[in-house]
Amino acid sequence: MLGELVRGLATTIKHVFSRPVTMEYPEYKPPVAPRFKGRHWLHRYDNGLEKCIGCALCAAACPVEAIWVEAAANTDEARYSPGERYAKTYEINYLRCIFCGYCEDACPTEAIVLGHGYELSFTSREDAIYEKARLIAPVPPGGTPTPQQVAPGSFDRAIPDMLDPEDQERLPFKKDFYGE
Ligand code: SF4
Ligand code: SF4
Repeated sequence: MLGELVRGLATTIKHVFSRPVTMEYPEYKPPVAPRFKGRHWLHRYDNGLEKCIGCALCAAACPVEAIWVEAAANTDEARYSPGERYAKTYEINYLRCIFCGYCEDACPTEAIVLGHGYELSFTSREDAIYEKARLIAPVPPGGTPTPQQVAPGSFDRAIPDMLDPEDQERLPFKKDFYGE
């Protein structure tokens, strides 16, 4: 009996001096692996135009029909993205999403990207459907919010020649915002 008591106390005392394995979440947010797939972002070009052209290939590729896209026509007076069309409505239902990344693979403009955000909690079904306002990335420094008024004929291709998105000068902004 006494031996068992001493053995039990020894185990307790041993753990008093070992490093704790618990993390003080949410004060401390543990980093995730570089390839972690979390909540989505709809990205922009450096000038602020949206990369999404409303083609709905992501919705077609999604195995659980979690994405809903409605396209509308761009004009030079109200331009959201390069090319003919932009996503007027873009929604992701996080009650369905399984974070497979197929939407990201299907996107021809690298607009939809799964980021590192994992703090997804909802209090209603409506709250779990992220609409475009919650998915669109912030305007990069020096860019202009959409819609933009542009000179006629400035953007006639869905994927224009623009600055490299991995431009080293932009990386600090991206790292701050997306935590990558
Ligand atoms: S990550 Fe997969 S399940 Fe989620 S929206 Fe994209 S394709 Fe659909
Ligand atoms: S996110 Fe990509 S695949 Fe989906 S509608 Fe926009 S451009 Fe098309």
